[in-house]
Amino acid sequence: MKILILGVNGFIGSTLTDKIMETTDWEVYGMDMDSDKLEKSIDHERFHFVEGDITINKEWIEYHVKKCDVVLPLVAIATPSVYVSDPLRVFELDFEANLEIVRQCVKYKKRVIFPSTSEVYGMSQDDSFNEETSQLVLGPINKQRWIYSCAKQMMDRVIYAYGVKEDFDYTLFRPFNWIGPRLDRVDSQKEGSSRALTLFISNILHHGEIKLVNGGEQRRSFTYIDDGIAALMKIIENKDGCATRRIFNIGNPTNDYSVKDFVSLLLEKFKGYPEYKSIAEATKVTVIDGEAHYGKHYEDAGFRVPSIQNAKDHLNWKPTTSMDDALTKTLDYYLVEKKEEATIQAA
Ligand code: UDP
Repeated sequence: MKILILGVNGFIGSTLTDKIMETTDWEVYGMDMDSDKLEKSIDHERFHFVEGDITINKEWIEYHVKKCDVVLPLVAIATPSVYVSDPLRVFELDFEANLEIVRQCVKYKKRVIFPSTSEVYGMSQDDSFNEETSQLVLGPINKQRWIYSCAKQMMDRVIYAYGVKEDFDYTLFRPFNWIGPRLDRVDSQKEGSSRALTLFISNILHHGEIKLVNGGEQRRSFTYIDDGIAALMKIIENKDGCATRRIFNIGNPTNDYSVKDFVSLLLEKFKGYPEYKSIAEATKVTVIDGEAHYGKHYEDAGFRVPSIQNAKDHLNWKPTTSMDDALTKTLDYYLVEKKEEATIQAA
């Protein structure tokens, strides 16, 4: 199998590529603007990397869509602070640029595995979000935070419509707060584009303060990257067409934590690393208003628990990594494996 991965150096793309190289005989063709997360696979004979930008290197992409069997367009801005600070960029990249690629997959009849998002459920009130029945609930237009959710939802609807009209072969997957090594950099320069966990790690290392937005009562179901990648491998394999024209929530409902409790657990874990014990103990946890933190166009989802019945039934998949293990593995990566980066920055 030949797989095209756009955004191959991202958190998901790079971890997936390593897994494919380690456990299959598949070929991966990958494009990204950078390759710093690909050190394990970059020299592998079945991995073909090219440095490039999906909005510029369009000929390369079309050629490889034609050449490959499966396409994973993983390039997107997926960071809430940017939804608020630069919503048009989110629309242009996450929707417009990806639409061109999806249309090429339709044209050349190639299977696409597209990253939807748990954000599409927005402020849905369901206890657990269901791919087929949950309402997708977004705030008013002046709450620009929802542009990401809306762009992804529109792409889901376009892909679904191609499936109905042209038997287009697709799978939509919805990650629920995936965490793990390589999520984002934790050095201070990059933290504006970080998700919560890596931002908190960075805050502990560099600032001695974690800010709980609106008190941190909001809840998320945190999912360890290896569990997510295991689901993606089954989706790519697509045994007997089990993933074709389906939508899958990929999340861990048993790791449903409030942000506040998540931070407490993280700080406790940090204290288990002797070198970082004192900075963890000295870290203050304060409360900040959401609009003060992100700007007036911010609004938040209060809770987000996936139903994973669809993935259990059709992929025979379920997550197995506890929150405790997920945090340990992530901190081992940032504080031990990438120790130099963390300690230099902390000094
Ligand atoms: N959050 C927080 N303090 C921060 C950053 C994030 O309390 O410094 C909260 C944020 O308001 C959200 C949750 O943590 O409710 C998860 O944030 P993330 O950036 O991972 O994205 P989301 O799950 O909202 O897509």
